[in-house]
Amino acid sequence: MHYVSTRGESPAAGFSAALLAGLAPDGGLYVPAAWPRLAVADFDGCTSLAQVAERLIAPFAAGDELAGQLGAIAADAFTFPAPLVPVAGAGYSVLELFHGPTAAFKDFGARFLAACLTRLRAADARPLEILVATSGDTGGAVAAAFHRRPGIRVAVLFPRGLVSPAQAQQLTCWGENVQAFEVRGSFDDCQRLVKAAFVDPQLRAHLDLSSANSINLGRLLPQAAYHAATALAVWRAEGRAPSFVIPSGNLGNALACVWARHVGLPIGDIVLAHNANRAVADHLAGKPWQPRRSIATLASAMDVGAPSNMERLQALFPALPDLQTAVTADVVDDGAIRRRIADDYRAYGAIWCPHTATAAEVMARMPAERRARGPWIIAATAHPAKFREIVEPLIGRDVPVPESLAQLYERPSASTALEPRLDALRAALLPAAAAGEGGA
Ligand SMILES: *Cc1c(COP(=O)(O)O)cnc(C)c1O
Repeated sequence: MHYVSTRGESPAAGFSAALLAGLAPDGGLYVPAAWPRLAVADFDGCTSLAQVAERLIAPFAAGDELAGQLGAIAADAFTFPAPLVPVAGAGYSVLELFHGPTAAFKDFGARFLAACLTRLRAADARPLEILVATSGDTGGAVAAAFHRRPGIRVAVLFPRGLVSPAQAQQLTCWGENVQAFEVRGSFDDCQRLVKAAFVDPQLRAHLDLSSANSINLGRLLPQAAYHAATALAVWRAEGRAPSFVIPSGNLGNALACVWARHVGLPIGDIVLAHNANRAVADHLAGKPWQPRRSIATLASAMDVGAPSNMERLQALFPALPDLQTAVTADVVDDGAIRRRIADDYRAYGAIWCPHTATAAEVMARMPAERRARGPWIIAATAHPAKFREIVEPLIGRDVPVPESLAQLYERPSASTALEPRLDALRAALLPAAAAGEGGA
């Protein structure tokens, strides 16, 4: 299996090469050169999430050096469940994607990528330096996933004072091979610094740089796996293909669901639930594609004005009518998010994070005839305890903190202040690199 760039100006790359590169050299995103086809029967005997992942991803890694290790990689990555829980009285189920170490769905992708990259580092190679700019959730999931992985170091850059206390703790509590940099600037400054580092001759001469951002294939494919496992379970139990409502920002989670359906999994409708960042919804309503600046909302992990994975969706469905058939979208403002959190707690005892609440709101608005084509599933992308400041006043009670998060909160935290300049980042990274693997 080979991967080509959505922009068509890069040489084809194998699975491992695409994982190591992240972005294609022409700035595009890697997509399969040809699509595998899988039938439900191909998954006979696969019951666990790890087994479904291995079977699903096998054709995507065909011929690659990691192909023979996919079983071990999936077992290493999928150490926590993605349960499908009916919401009593609501007429739909919720796919809980928040049982990983940092209580958001990004743990699946980050852990799978970490399991792959660890196996790609030869024992004698210099360490791989992973640079991540984060506005919150991504950095925590990546730090947790790569913590103590041999041969890999992680530098997480986050904007000082602009992430929530819980998010800051998830970025700074690791130590060892994970270094957190508190940048005196905005998220955009962090991102600009990381981009500058990747093209800096001095850093490139001393470090093997890689990124673990959400456009990496190694984060996308494992996300297709839990959609596949869920669809198979529903199909086996009811003989019907479930439809999904997916809280969306950069479209990584939703695109993974689209890919799962594209290779043959029994999945019905796919609905994108957006916050006030409405670029995708406007395009699906017929306007020309127009990326925007992001708007800050309560569902902050979805504050994306120019979703990168739109490029992959458009590669699959170049004509707008086909795209409009493949997915639909709805937009939910902060007022509706607040009301939905309060209402669904009162009606069903359900506690949503602000992101999950956008999907619950889209479900609540859905016309009866479309609902009847179910079964419907909403994706719960984060545990509400990560957003206590927002959720608790709305439901009038404490949100119980899951054990995994409680453990993180107890770890000591440390970070290094960083001026938003390339020379400062160079100075911070290079001595550490010369000191070798594990030194921080
Ligand atoms: C990242 C994130 C999203 C958005 O997912 P995309 O793949 O970027 O569309 C939604 N909810 C939560 C909690 C997230 O962390």
